[in-house]
Amino acid sequence: MKVIKFGGSSLANARQFEKVKGIVAADDDRRFVVVSAAGRSDQDDHKITDLLYLCHAHLKYGVNCDTIFSMIEDRFLAIKRELKLRYPMEKDLDVIHNALRKQIPLDYLVSRGEYLTAKLMAEYLGYTFLDAKDLICFSYDGKVDFVKTAEMMDHHLKSHDHFVIPGFYGAMPDGSIRIMARGGSDITGAIVAKIVHADVYENWTDVSGILMADPRIVKQPHQIQKITYSELRELSYMGANVLHEDAIFPVKEAAIPINIRNTNEPENPGTLIMDLSDESSDQQDTLITGIAGRKDFSVVAIYKNHMSNEVGIIRRALSVFEKYHISIEHIPSGIDSFSVVVNHADIKDNIYDIVSEIKAQCECDEVKVINDIALIATVGRHMFSRPGISGQLFAELGKHDINIRMIAQGSDEINIIVGVENKDFEKTTKVIYAHFVKDETK
Ligand code: ASP
Repeated sequence: MKVIKFGGSSLANARQFEKVKGIVAADDDRRFVVVSAAGRSDQDDHKITDLLYLCHAHLKYGVNCDTIFSMIEDRFLAIKRELKLRYPMEKDLDVIHNALRKQIPLDYLVSRGEYLTAKLMAEYLGYTFLDAKDLICFSYDGKVDFVKTAEMMDHHLKSHDHFVIPGFYGAMPDGSIRIMARGGSDITGAIVAKIVHADVYENWTDVSGILMADPRIVKQPHQIQKITYSELRELSYMGANVLHEDAIFPVKEAAIPINIRNTNEPENPGTLIMDLSDESSDQQDTLITGIAGRKDFSVVAIYKNHMSNEVGIIRRALSVFEKYHISIEHIPSGIDSFSVVVNHADIKDNIYDIVSEIKAQCECDEVKVINDIALIATVGRHMFSRPGISGQLFAELGKHDINIRMIAQGSDEINIIVGVENKDFEKTTKVIYAHFVKDETK
């Protein structure tokens, strides 16, 4: 059994709805369909969700939003007309339009994008519409109540077994609608996959899976075929734009693989995200799985003679960062010095206070702040226990005249992180990619 989620661009117009139908019809196991709100079909188009937020912003300041609302109506009615659907959508649109004059809650209004898209899709596929407010239950602390949600699902499964479910929202214990973070339909899909014990959670979007590097830096990077949840976590933490953490957690916990697929290229197998503990089935053409990085870190370097003999100095320095609620990325250390790597944005407003407090706490000789540092992570489960990989990486950067300012490796050996100057960020990514990917796939 498969849970299959479609993103906004896969639902932008009647043509995209037809593709969705083709994909659903191609596999009998695709029984639970979760949809986002209709998105953009091209650059000049608007996401329905954005338009709904805009309506609410107008209402907040007492400005009439009829023009924006009629854009929303036109988009939906065009899909209905072109697909020759019978669902009396005009009535639902009128109810929402009338409510706009009252104090309409933001969550209710914004959730209507998914609601209406799911209504259209349910009729088009001939599946049962299941309102997320009667399925996804939140507790008062805003967390998903999985026990109650599973009970609701069991109840619905008694009468039907093929559903279209709107993503992005659910209900609070008092029945009011609550939306999730932007992009939340991915989370709904993951919750549904977990509670129905799906064999796979297919996430259909407009790219063919996850790429090995940022395509704005590396020209036409390869697509990742298989990636583990931990590798994905490393890559997304370092800046790769993939699924929301909350969309990974429920399926990861239930050991359900996620398959990222492209609605516009359904024959492409996409990327499979899963636990790959069975080494025999874990083949990969390249030694590394992907590269990702971010710019604009700062290194706070602390120097003190004979520091190596002193107890507690790192703790005292870290307590200063804690006081300012600054999250620490890495702590590379030498004999008589250590550095604390943080996001520049987090320290920039308090930098002078932080430096003087570290000096006072640690009684150190010098504190230096080095800005404009980029961190680049080379991630790959196949690097584990293979000697020489970091050697190759550093040698390659040396050959290309790139100065490494910092090195870090996680204890599970699935990543090697190098810190370079911001200006070398793109070059470093290209050099690592060219060495580890292009060479091996020649
Ligand atoms: N429609 C919502 C958004 O644009 C949720 C989603 O697409 O997943 O964020």
